[in-house]
Amino acid sequence: MTTLDYPGELAAVVFCQGCPWRCRYCHNGHLLPARSAEAIPWCKVAGFLGRRSGLLDAVVFSGGEPTAQHALGAAMAEVRELGFKVGLHTAGCYPERLEKLIPQLHWVGLDIKGLPEDYPEITGVPDSGRQAWRSLEILLGGGVGLEVRTTVPPIWSPDYVESLAEQLVRMGVESFVVQTCITARALDPQWRHRASEPLGAAAQARLAARFARFSVRGT
Ligand code: SF4
Repeated sequence: MTTLDYPGELAAVVFCQGCPWRCRYCHNGHLLPARSAEAIPWCKVAGFLGRRSGLLDAVVFSGGEPTAQHALGAAMAEVRELGFKVGLHTAGCYPERLEKLIPQLHWVGLDIKGLPEDYPEITGVPDSGRQAWRSLEILLGGGVGLEVRTTVPPIWSPDYVESLAEQLVRMGVESFVVQTCITARALDPQWRHRASEPLGAAAQARLAARFARFSVRGT
């Protein structure tokens, strides 16, 4: 149960196994392989959620990368039938799949990891930036509640965060969160325990003036 993972709603979070990317700052390394000995069958998850119908507002599919799972749409439909709102945390790895999920979705937290050209250095995957920014375009045109989040890598300056934010403003993003990079368990040992330079008060004020909703949070 969480009040942080879906703004304004009391939610349960379903952590989905598997992700096609390997972000250097990822602290969920155990969720990245497609399979895990600790996986819980969906029928058990659905039974758990059914017993909480009327007690919780929403279910958020998080990860890993939930859209890596082909059964996600069916799981979301089941969750809606139980009376929950449906939230999704995604890095936008699969824009075409994301587009098909839009009718099921009430709210999305989309990770934008940088400008498209920044992605390969962060995710280790060529073309990942194009996929993520295509996902952003789809969500902006999809009428779904949207929060864009950017985790600041330890190699960025605060100025760079502001230039990325300007690009998001130009795209029409209204809700933006800057996340502090917690690197103690970073996938890349070279990024472990390296802190990103914090956004100063003046930079935060400038960003707050550019978006309808802006905040800084830890991850
Ligand atoms: S940070 Fe997200 S997108 Fe990147 S490897 Fe971890 S789970 Fe995948």
